[in-house]
Amino acid sequence: MLSLLLCLNFGCTGCYGAVETTLHCEGHGVDENPGAMVKIACPWCGINNEVVFTPDGTIHGVNRARTYKRIPEPSHN
Ligand SMILES: [Zn+2]
Repeated sequence: MLSLLLCLNFGCTGCYGAVETTLHCEGHGVDENPGAMVKIACPWCGINNEVVFTPDGTIHGVNRARTYKRIPEPSHN
C-alpha cells in the first residue's frame, strides 16, 4: 500500500495567511493521479480553500471553495 505524507504550504485565499498542512495520502492511483484536490479550511479565518496538488508535493493552484451553508433538515417524526 502506497503511503505518502505531503506537506502543503499555501496562502489562504481569504486572509492571505500562510497555511501549512500535512496530508496523508494512501491508496492506489495516488502516484498516477495528475492532480488531486483537497479542501483545507484556513486555521486563521476559517475559509475553505481548494488546493490542487500532485503527489510530489507541488501545488498547482489554490481556489476559494464555495461555501455552502447547509440548512439543517428538520426531522419529521
Ligand atoms: Zn484565511
